[in-house]
Amino acid sequence: MDRADGTGPAGTTGRPGRPRVMVVGGGVGGLATAVALHARGVPVGVLERSAAESGAGSGLTLWPNGVRALEAIGLGPAVREHSLPGGTAVIRTPSGRYLSRLDPGGALGDRGAVVAVHRAELTGILRAALPAGTVRAGVTVTGVRRDGRGRPVVVTDAGEETADVVIGADGLRSTVRDSLLPASRGPRYAGYTAWRMIVEAPGNPVDPREAGETMGRGERFGVVPLRDGRVYAFATARALEGDRSPDGERAELLRRFGRWHAPVPRLLAAAREKAILRHDIHDLPPLPRLARGRVALLGDAAHAMTPNLGQGANQALEDAVVIAALLADRPDPEEALAAYDAERRPRTRRVVARSRRAGRVAQWHRPAAVGLRETLLRLTPPSLALRAMAPILDWTPPTPRPTGSGRAGGNE
Ligand SMILES: Cc1cc2nc3c(=O)[nH]c(=O)nc-3n(C[C@H](O)[C@H](O)[C@H](O)COP(=O)(O)OP(=O)(O)OC[C@H]3O[C@@H](n4cnc5c(N)ncnc54)[C@H](O)[C@@H]3O)c2cc1C
Repeated sequence: MDRADGTGPAGTTGRPGRPRVMVVGGGVGGLATAVALHARGVPVGVLERSAAESGAGSGLTLWPNGVRALEAIGLGPAVREHSLPGGTAVIRTPSGRYLSRLDPGGALGDRGAVVAVHRAELTGILRAALPAGTVRAGVTVTGVRRDGRGRPVVVTDAGEETADVVIGADGLRSTVRDSLLPASRGPRYAGYTAWRMIVEAPGNPVDPREAGETMGRGERFGVVPLRDGRVYAFATARALEGDRSPDGERAELLRRFGRWHAPVPRLLAAAREKAILRHDIHDLPPLPRLARGRVALLGDAAHAMTPNLGQGANQALEDAVVIAALLADRPDPEEALAAYDAERRPRTRRVVARSRRAGRVAQWHRPAAVGLRETLLRLTPPSLALRAMAPILDWTPPTPRPTGSGRAGGNE
């Protein structure tokens, strides 16, 4: 990054006087940050540990706030092209009874689009929006320190790099966070595990106009249609941390969900063992700050959350747009990162807490509690539940800041 010719990494075009930014981590958050910075003329490079992009993976639900963030960095059309617009959102019981049903033309219709996308396709779109050479794959960051002039130095397995600003977008077990906030508490286990898979089921057993979740006793199964007849399926279950099935995860899923309503058994029958991802669910206790000096944290590194609201990547996209606007608009990077902390920490803290609460209820397993949950879901109009989501979904991206004015934008 600290190149003799004074430019940023190969292929980037930065305006003179802009801070040169090094992003650690090339997931959704890191790549979106790089795209947003590049779009505003800030030179940026990305260091990514994985040597190759993984085609495997899962789907992501992008809510109106995340879609707006993608629109703000010019990628709305590309994402729409690769995604399926959300249809009716349903909640069912394992026997198939509908507890709740929200049509796309309902309350959410006014709020904007919800789309489902393959995660690898989203990261592919983000990478394609960056000049060649911006992302350096196969580089593992081992820490961040400061040089004698107070500038951050990224320490990697391939050497050291000095930058004006470092952004840690390196996920749940962030190395940058360990360097920045060594005393902060690490991820905490939420008490349940999750499986994710992309399935191409013969005979297309899934209605592409309906996505949703089925809630059992301490177990859930979700079905989200993707473009081209593929289906993103996920499941959760109460489990001890680190538990794995001795005879394979597909066998475990069949034992747990093989007798649930259609199309669950057919999806599991079509799933390939190798395509099933299993992760224990963690979130991050609130951090005392998301930035210090010229180093900031973003996405899961800053505020990993349980997946119950489907907001982790959406919040990372919001972070990306806000931090890029602040770094582009403010001459002092430290002031920009302090403003980023002030803007993003309270909001993301609320989303993390809410997601954790939602997960607790969704994982209830005692029959009386499950009965109560089903009654509440049946009686609560879906439009009411959505109205409660308004503070999250109604976020709008910052507008470029007129000289001399206050905050970068964004909202709660
Ligand atoms: C079961 C499940 C379902 C989910 N569903 C949704 C959903 O529907 N919608 C949604 O918005 N969110 C969802 N999420 C959350 C979402 O996946 C995350 O919030 C999102 O991926 C965070 O993006 P990120 O870029 O911050 O981190 P990551 O995606 O974890 O990316 C971090 C990157 O940093 C790299 N890296 C890590 N360490 C280093 C290092 N030392 N040096 C260099 N590179 C490094 C990694 O290789 C990785 O590429 C879900 C999560 C789970 C577990």
